[in-house]
Amino acid sequence: MSGIMAAIKLREAGFHDFTIYEKADRLGGTWRENTYPGIACDVPSHLYSYSFAPNPEWSHRFSPGSEIQAYFEAVARRHGVDGRIQYRKEVTRCAFEDGRWKVEMADGTSDVGDFVIAATGVLHHPATPDIEGLDDFEGACFHSARWDHAVPLAGRRLGVIGTGSSAIQIVSALVEQVAELTLFQRTAQWIAPVENPAYSEAEKAEFRRRPEAMAQIRAQVSRAFIEGFANALADVQSPQLEAIHAACETNLETSVKDPELREKLRPNYRAACKRLIMSADFYEAIQRPNARLVTEAIARVEESGVRTRDGRLHELDVLVLATGFCVDRFVRPMQVTGRDGTRLDDIWKEGPFAYMAISVPDFPNFFMLNGPNGPVGNFSLIDVAELQFAYILQLVEQVRSGACREVSASRMAMESFEAERREAARTTIWSSGCTSWYLDAQGVPMAWPWTFDRFREEMSKPRLADFEAR
Ligand code: NAP
Repeated sequence: MSGIMAAIKLREAGFHDFTIYEKADRLGGTWRENTYPGIACDVPSHLYSYSFAPNPEWSHRFSPGSEIQAYFEAVARRHGVDGRIQYRKEVTRCAFEDGRWKVEMADGTSDVGDFVIAATGVLHHPATPDIEGLDDFEGACFHSARWDHAVPLAGRRLGVIGTGSSAIQIVSALVEQVAELTLFQRTAQWIAPVENPAYSEAEKAEFRRRPEAMAQIRAQVSRAFIEGFANALADVQSPQLEAIHAACETNLETSVKDPELREKLRPNYRAACKRLIMSADFYEAIQRPNARLVTEAIARVEESGVRTRDGRLHELDVLVLATGFCVDRFVRPMQVTGRDGTRLDDIWKEGPFAYMAISVPDFPNFFMLNGPNGPVGNFSLIDVAELQFAYILQLVEQVRSGACREVSASRMAMESFEAERREAARTTIWSSGCTSWYLDAQGVPMAWPWTFDRFREEMSKPRLADFEAR
């Protein structure tokens, strides 16, 4: 998503000598990798689109993953950047040598460039849970982000571990197909009720005729999202977060009939502390006669199923690990070496960081899109990447104009940004008393802790005094 956008924007800015390296044989990132049944985006379609490429053909208010994948492929083709992608080129090493970046690929080839833009995504390394006996299971077992479509599901006993966004979508999509569905819940989740109506043919025709109608929807949804959610995350006391919590509570109360099941599904923390889950049909799915919610902790996996700590064996044919991702990888496992041999892996030993989520001291002319501690849980990552790219371009212009040859955040700016960010992160909703993938090893949220309006303001113009230009 962000690499395609960067290529389009580079061309617009008059850069023609660039290459996109892609490890896979297809573009699409998240939307290529995640093909599990029910996959959809929980950001409304007209907001989860590039600002410069509205799409009148979105079928629903929230798009299914396959439509999003097709959209990125179509945009890349239409803007003529698909030909700039070199596929099956996994970058294994980037090193800043003699004022330029040497980029090495797994196939032994290499390239040299003046700048590197890492558009390498956030959640792309599946986390396999450390559960005893996982390899002993005799049925099919795979991670939600590595769905094995060859495995038949109809009439079989399906187990799903995890209750994050992926699991909730999988359960809702599959409960009717399988004979039995067992959901292993370690932590209950708040579910925000959202409807997902289809766009009518008349609406789509109107969007084709009047693209400004899509721009209007985008602007409205964007404002509502920022004011009703993204800005509020920074303030635990905000009335918006209270309203979200109340809506989730009402959803639980009114949707789940059996009081015992309702209590099992009731989280003991504030809504939006963990990533808020949007679903119109999860509660309905988990109440179906063939669905079972298991809240007993998992003891181990055995040949025929999952044994919980109460000694019970839950027999299964297929086990899905919807257990999330290794969230601190970013550009890694690529070996990135900056000035004087400084290795990113070494300086990120305690956890990844970047000034404004974009630049790292001593890594000149190296910029990240959706890098560490950005607004990853706050807003549409497409908008985030577009704003970040506009910022990066202004830094690149410093070099292009001859003002300097190398630019990266100064160590002092990095330190004060990170200190301020960590302090602010303590009063966000993510710090309000739950565990989640937003928290680092010290329990500090790894995210942009201020309002989204502040992010937009910061991205409009780099504070050049915070950069070291040589
Ligand atoms: P996730 O939110 O990290 O959820 C992982 C789930 O697995 C959690 O319920 C976790 O329980 C559970 N888990 C992990 N290890 C376990 C273990 N050893 N035993 C039992 N349970 C275990 O992962 P995800 O659902 O793939 O979602 C990741 C992120 O991707 C989301 O937060 C969201 O940002 C994005 N996403 C978005 C969409 C969308 O737009 N609709 C869809 C999918 C994903 P605990 O809560 O107890 O840790």
